Amino acid sequence: MAKATTTIKQVLHYQAGHGVWFAANQALFNRVTAFYFGVIQAHEKVLDLSHKDALTALEILTHATEKNPNPVMPLREIAEHIPAMFRRAAINAALGSARSFSSHLKKWRKRKERAIAKGKKWSERPPVPPRSWNKSVPFYVGQWKERTASSILLKVWTGTCWSWIKVRITGRELPADAEIGSPSLMKHGNQWWLHTPIEKLFSSPAKIEQQVTTNTETKICAIDLNLGEQIAVCTIQTVEGTILATQFIGGGRRISGFRKHQLGWIARNRRKTGIIAEGEQDNADLWRKISSRDDDLAHLVSARIVQFAVKHEATILVFEHLGNLKPEKGKYSHRGNSKRAFWMKGRIFKYAKYKAWGERIITSRVNPRNTSRECARCHSLIVRYHAGQPATGYTPGASLVLCPDCQMQGHADRNASLVIGQRLIARYQRPLLEKPQAPLRAERVVKATGVSRSQVARRKEKPSISQARHGAGNEHGTAQDGLLWMEERPSSIPHPLRLFNE
Ligand SMILES: [Zn+2]
Repeated sequence: MAKATTTIKQVLHYQAGHGVWFAANQALFNRVTAFYFGVIQAHEKVLDLSHKDALTALEILTHATEKNPNPVMPLREIAEHIPAMFRRAAINAALGSARSFSSHLKKWRKRKERAIAKGKKWSERPPVPPRSWNKSVPFYVGQWKERTASSILLKVWTGTCWSWIKVRITGRELPADAEIGSPSLMKHGNQWWLHTPIEKLFSSPAKIEQQVTTNTETKICAIDLNLGEQIAVCTIQTVEGTILATQFIGGGRRISGFRKHQLGWIARNRRKTGIIAEGEQDNADLWRKISSRDDDLAHLVSARIVQFAVKHEATILVFEHLGNLKPEKGKYSHRGNSKRAFWMKGRIFKYAKYKAWGERIITSRVNPRNTSRECARCHSLIVRYHAGQPATGYTPGASLVLCPDCQMQGHADRNASLVIGQRLIARYQRPLLEKPQAPLRAERVVKATGVSRSQVARRKEKPSISQARHGAGNEHGTAQDGLLWMEERPSSIPHPLRLFNE
């Protein structure tokens, strides 16, 4: 069995006064969490323990009992009568933050050592522990009860005492078949919400290798992520090569314009103050604004990718590896923009992978080398050009492609997406096709004459890639039925699948 976690968000309805209590409850939780973070900093070895042992150790250090009347750092000095489950939630939150801080610090020390060993100047500031705490309160079992579809009782600190209060719930209902985790009280604007993580159990999908090698009808959704207007171009193809659908997900220009504007402000602020650090207060708001817009869009794009895959019953998602960010020249806002766009691609992959898993779809990645330069139909090098310009050479980022060998014409990103999908298939077909080593092109034509007729015949039935449409919009690139995938060419020689190293 496999499992997937999602969060159900529900709006709460409560008396105005209760909102104040929720806030007091959260303030207390953060005070206790900050206290435990301090305890861990004073006893760093706690982090070497298993989670369960760390919890026990921290309770012995702080919690007075009959057997342990004088703990080293009593929690009592911060607050009296903290319910055990509230304390445990705070300890877990503190452990999470401490682990993350400690790993950042370790990485920073390693970078510093390496830089100094190489004789480089070292000016990067060390990570700092959280200065303020603003965590939401999870309600462990014992802190909530009598949950129904429309209400729940929560035990909260009102500022003066612990009290059970009943709140009404509206919004999406909890699915009946899921396992329910600890709900959290979250504040969005002025409204308190209840977020409940749920775990869905399902039978594990078959491994990619099995899906690809045992069923030629397995549908693969391949995604080409871009820095241009089309943030994602997705195609669905079967293992045997039939192209079933295409979707363009746009919005790249808008987000890039937004970032450029904000980064422009940051650059101006820096010139004024002479401050370089990203974390400085005057720019922190602007950074947060960009970050949250990027994150929203990454969620939106990844959700649409997964919807598209589900709609066409794809069982595998495939992206290309991101590779390294190539440093760019130019203005600050331009460099910053492409950096953010690169990060966003990573986030889209991460979110899509996790959303796809909830639909029993497995995600994979392939080697990105030359995915944009190769013809999806015959694997020759293609010509890439802008609309209205002569179809020669290779213009990176241009939207159209033409294959001089097989005359395939189409949208460059759609072609790249198809190549990405084919690369995944080729990975599992390699054992059959790998030997001998892929010959050079000139040799290949000669050798390829031996390719069986059935391959030619089969390919004839495939829809034409040359009908791919250009431009924006969604779902318009769906493959046209009835058109030939590959027209009869004078030579009648199909090129063998080129193979790739992963
Ligand atoms: Zn071609």
